[in-house]
Amino acid sequence: MVLESTLTCPECGTVKTETMPVDACQFFYDCTGCGKLLRPAPGGR
Ligand SMILES: [Zn+2]
Repeated sequence: MVLESTLTCPECGTVKTETMPVDACQFFYDCTGCGKLLRPAPGGR
């Protein structure tokens, strides 16, 4: 199972949709705009 999470950087507003495995609950993503580490919330929570 794979989820798509839309990540919006709170720092620079860069939006990117990432596809990740559902078990990647500790997945961290670094913003392509400013390099800030983001933690996506699969399922919207
Ligand atoms: Zn950013």
